[in-house]
Amino acid sequence: MQSYLSGLASFLAVTLSVSAAGAQTVDVAAGQSRVHSLTSVSSTSRVIDLTHPFDQRTIYWPTETGFQLIRGKAGITEKGYYYAANRFSAAEHGGTHVDAPIHFFEGRHTVDQIPLARLMGEAVVIDVSQACAEDPDYQIDVGDLRDWETTHQRQLVDVIVMLRTGFGRHWGDRKRYLGTDQTGPDAVAQLHFPGLAPTAARWLVEHRAIKSIGIDTPSIDYGQSKRFQSHVMLFEHNILAFENVANLEKLPAKGATVTALPMKIAGGSGAPVRIIATIEVD
Ligand SMILES: [Zn+2]
Repeated sequence: MQSYLSGLASFLAVTLSVSAAGAQTVDVAAGQSRVHSLTSVSSTSRVIDLTHPFDQRTIYWPTETGFQLIRGKAGITEKGYYYAANRFSAAEHGGTHVDAPIHFFEGRHTVDQIPLARLMGEAVVIDVSQACAEDPDYQIDVGDLRDWETTHQRQLVDVIVMLRTGFGRHWGDRKRYLGTDQTGPDAVAQLHFPGLAPTAARWLVEHRAIKSIGIDTPSIDYGQSKRFQSHVMLFEHNILAFENVANLEKLPAKGATVTALPMKIAGGSGAPVRIIATIEVD
């Protein structure tokens, strides 16, 4: 009973925080079954890691220093046990990470203030990989989102929207993934990768109610963006973004359950995040 009550309490906390953030609701039964499928990985469910590893090759914005692992001691101690401990250093924004709304809008959620309900839930995958293969500057627009809705006979409400540009397959190759392998301030103008069109960001905040959005490129705005209007539009409404998401080609167009837990940096504008998806398989 105690554990049931504490579980119920944490569920209510999630529900309440969502209500405070916007007009979204969580289905109690669905929430419980999702927790069950995550904790007992059975033959009927599969877990997919949507996270790139953090190492020397992890891709960061051209103006950022990359991820650094500072090796500490590793080996057998005088007392006979093995011990290893390192340090790391990293920008908030690089590798698979979350942009907290305050990243582009003053007064909105910092990473520790993001309601958990925006980090968990059903993911839908908008596949624009064909268009992006033909045009690295492609911007996903309202038509792409509406095409998904028409195909699946559903509205983009209470879901985590994942934009699959196909650029995830270029991970590790800075030139292809970013459009340039140069670094420093001058390299920013040479960035070429797809993103969400500001018109689509506006449509999502004005006509739909999504939990959050993710993309398999370094930024929710396309590489050639100068004013980052999709960031501004989404973040004004406290809709956060996941960037450099991995393995989106392994997800179905709907029905996967995503859990994305960023490092809880108090006051942070973003953070590295571990994102996983659970898929039910027959
Ligand atoms: Zn970011």
